[in-house]
Amino acid sequence: NIGFFNGEFIDINKAVIPIDERGHQFGDGVYEVVKTYHSVPLLLDEHLERFEKSATAIHIRLPYKKAELKSIIVEGIERAGLENAEVYFQVTRGIAPRNHLFPDVPPSFTLTVKPARKIAERNYESGVQTIIVEDDRWAKCHIKSLNLLPNILAKQNAVNSGNFEAIYEKDGFIAEGTSSNVFVVKNAVLYTTPLTSNILPGITREAILQIAKEEGIESKEERFTKDFLMNADEAFISSTSVEVLPIRTVDGQIIGSGNPGEMTKKLHQLFKGLC
Ligand code: PLP
Repeated sequence: NIGFFNGEFIDINKAVIPIDERGHQFGDGVYEVVKTYHSVPLLLDEHLERFEKSATAIHIRLPYKKAELKSIIVEGIERAGLENAEVYFQVTRGIAPRNHLFPDVPPSFTLTVKPARKIAERNYESGVQTIIVEDDRWAKCHIKSLNLLPNILAKQNAVNSGNFEAIYEKDGFIAEGTSSNVFVVKNAVLYTTPLTSNILPGITREAILQIAKEEGIESKEERFTKDFLMNADEAFISSTSVEVLPIRTVDGQIIGSGNPGEMTKKLHQLFKGLC
């Protein structure tokens, strides 16, 4: 386990974050999660691009250029000596006495490299149970903000009731999961929620759409309802952590045949080909 804070590689277990760090006090920052396969970070450029967009959206200037960020990340991966790692990094508005107003201090950059969390194989074999919840998040869900309180509460609530993920419904349409994007397959067409400020532009989501295009699979970025999802032939969630994970049930109702669908399995196989 390797850590990095404001210019130095550190021992994660000994690291102390200053009390007046704004990430710690306000959640005043943005983050990314990247996974490595055979020690290579997957889709790193895409993640770095989104990181920059998130930071710009909240008026934080990244303390490093893209090439510098890359070399810190690569060095962290090397130091950790892990093949399959989860690389987490965040930038915050810096360290300054608590005050809502932006301080005139440099931003803080933190990175950790840890073993990738494992998703149990049975989840891929049988699909996961999900619930639909009202979207109670803020209005800028396209920003990968550190503020994850609604997501944490919804995910815990889902798991406490025997589910894997909670899926947000907003204004009568499916938005995304607490930490995933949602796809539906209906009559051999792939559907996913369009990019608006209602959802995070998932890097995995984009890779799947690209794969579908290359494979000649028709895809539509169109909003759809809970009813459409429940009557799907197949459904799955996507994220850096879970890749492509079949949905077995939504609010207790079985989706399609109840087993992971052919299109879902094919897209997951092709996605793994990128790793
Ligand atoms: N939506 C939300 C709210 C997320 O937090 C995440 C990732 O954690 C995703 C979607 C999936 O994004 P990605 O594929 O870039 O991991």
